[in-house]
Amino acid sequence: MSGFPYANEYEVHRTLPEQGMERADILHMLSDLSARENLAWESGQCSGTMYCGDHDHYDFLNKAFAQFSYVNTLQRDMCPSATKSEAEIIAMTLDLLGAEHLAGANPGGLVTSGGSGSIAHAVLAYREANPQLTGRANIIKPETAHPAFAKAGHLFGVEMRVAPVDPTTTLVDLDWVRTHIDANTVALIGSACNYGYGTIDPIGELGAIALEHGIGLHVDSCLGGFILPFGRELGYDIPAFDFSVPGVTTISADTHKYGYALKGTSVLAFADQSLRNAQYFYLTDWSGGKYCSPGMDGSRSGGLLAATWAAMVHVGRSGYRRYAKAIFETSAQMQTAVRSHPELRVIGTPSFLFSFTSDEFDIYHVNDFLRTRGWRMNGQQYPNAIHMAVTRPQTLPGVLERWTADLAEAVRYATAHRADPAKSGAIYGGVVGGPSLEADEFIRAVMAEMMDHQASIPAP
Ligand SMILES: *Cc1c(COP(=O)(O)O)cnc(C)c1O
Repeated sequence: MSGFPYANEYEVHRTLPEQGMERADILHMLSDLSARENLAWESGQCSGTMYCGDHDHYDFLNKAFAQFSYVNTLQRDMCPSATKSEAEIIAMTLDLLGAEHLAGANPGGLVTSGGSGSIAHAVLAYREANPQLTGRANIIKPETAHPAFAKAGHLFGVEMRVAPVDPTTTLVDLDWVRTHIDANTVALIGSACNYGYGTIDPIGELGAIALEHGIGLHVDSCLGGFILPFGRELGYDIPAFDFSVPGVTTISADTHKYGYALKGTSVLAFADQSLRNAQYFYLTDWSGGKYCSPGMDGSRSGGLLAATWAAMVHVGRSGYRRYAKAIFETSAQMQTAVRSHPELRVIGTPSFLFSFTSDEFDIYHVNDFLRTRGWRMNGQQYPNAIHMAVTRPQTLPGVLERWTADLAEAVRYATAHRADPAKSGAIYGGVVGGPSLEADEFIRAVMAEMMDHQASIPAP
């Protein structure tokens, strides 16, 4: 266990201080910590996570946030501006995702707390919209779809049927999907694009299957929703994945990723409001008053709606297109560097996010070396692979050149160390035979270190 963060420099509080600290001291400390931690990604060597990375933009969003940070959006009589922000976020997202193709329908949306929130609300909506089922509802998801679907299934008692994917293309096996639909299947899932490989499931085919069976199709565009539409405009070979595809009934798109908003918002777009309305929760006969909230959250900060709205109307179509262009170009060039090494293999046909592995050595050797040069890749398993979600920090001058040079050295390092076990592979790589009891224990220990930190704080 590593030590409790910053325990050597700053006081650790285990009880509320009797006398509060000075505001200036607190802010001084927080800006010190933030500036030091920003170094981890400001170099442009961190995959994903910091989608924007522009401190001027963050300052602007923080100002927008500050105007309404203390407002509770449940009290709409007091904050009609929250309705302006929320309704416009939803309308702009629907428009971006091709809602004009939904002739005769009544599209709608929900602003949620993040991608997992959007996915959870979609799973709940499909369950609630099908009260006629005699058994437990099920949803079919490709293996590559985000764990948030499994989590939502776990929370809401919906069975997740995991469809295998083609090992070469990483795309979902459509025949498997077709043969596993039954009377209790309420929806199919496709990703555009998925988190692991940056590949896009055959949404057109999934839509056709969904229509044939009269069930829903959720497209997980948490990652791609605010960048793929602009990649298509720029002429990149990206198949239609939005409401222009017949059969698509919901799409999740994260404003807090390539929407360049603050962390804490995502949009769940519905082809028809009736599906959204099916998952509302309200209690009209409570002694405490009539209660109604659109989603799972109760109180929400008006600041996040204001900041998300501000990000969208400030960046605008031309801004999103310009950033998408830089990201797609950088990703293509980084992939070219990977392909220049015969020892490495790019998996499937990726987009702005690409994953690669090796058939010559454990790819975690490459990761081990890249780490020594300040790169922070995301680790994958079955097979072991590492991915880079290209974001705006990677488009800064010099990053591509550093990538090309460091990758070449990493390949030499991996070749020389092929007979040894890779260091980072022990944590991020696949466990032979799948998860075990030890893995469960390990996860609990990691969580405890995050939240309880008993290991580092002496008992009183
Ligand atoms: C990030 C992501 C999610 C989950 O979103 P959170 O905001 O982390 O809850 C779901 N699907 C995909 C494809 C993602 O990239």
